[in-house]
Amino acid sequence: MRKPIIAGNWKMFKTAAETRAFVRTFRPKVDNLKDREVVLCAPFTSLWALVEELKGSQVAVGAQNAHWEEKGAYTGEVAVGMLKEIGVRYVVVGHSERRQYFGETDATVNKRTLAVLAGGLTPISCIGETLQERESNQTFKVLERQVRESLKGLTSPADGVIAYEPVWAIGTGKTATPAQAEEAHNFIRKEFAKLYTDATAQAVRILYGGSVKPDNMASLMKQKDIDGGLVGGASLEADGFARIVLYDRQAAAAI
Ligand code: PEP
Repeated sequence: MRKPIIAGNWKMFKTAAETRAFVRTFRPKVDNLKDREVVLCAPFTSLWALVEELKGSQVAVGAQNAHWEEKGAYTGEVAVGMLKEIGVRYVVVGHSERRQYFGETDATVNKRTLAVLAGGLTPISCIGETLQERESNQTFKVLERQVRESLKGLTSPADGVIAYEPVWAIGTGKTATPAQAEEAHNFIRKEFAKLYTDATAQAVRILYGGSVKPDNMASLMKQKDIDGGLVGGASLEADGFARIVLYDRQAAAAI
């Protein structure tokens, strides 16, 4: 049984002060959930505030990138050990915005994913096709390449988390239908079985990302290969994100 993960990706939003204000509203609504993992992925400068505000909570802290070297002359980068030292537990790797604007490739996503796992943190490694690729029937070819190249050579592959994020659905308000998302997730799981073993493929968690909202989370989560969500815009508002986290609970209706 795979435990669901609902992760918020704040992108380049929220100062440390805004982070503290968010947690004070959000935390009481989602604390003590044992049947799912909840993660907030903040900008580097807000991570410390997030760690402090979440002390004693089961809500975990995530970063949005990490370098593959332990230390060195890599201006502007942050090492896995530095994140771990302050209490970060997850790292988003290879988000499509990093692939699109910062030259991230399958090869660098692979190096970062390996380093995050080796450092004892959990990578949330992102893959997904563009609109042009979908419209030219390249979706499965692209996903196959991304799984093979970005996720190869992992020593403990089931410890990692994959996020399927169709680029055309990110920040656009266009969500993949549950059936479209399930088709892609199922394909990714099968590719993972080819790359590793059936047991590993059954254990690895695959999150869906792309315009997840409080009113579409439950239908996505009913799909058998969807194990959670990576939520961008809708994770910025505490009440709305709490409703996404509580997608199958009565409590959500009262928020
Ligand atoms: C994301 O940033 O990973 C994302 C899926 O964004 P949004 O939910 O805004 O589409």
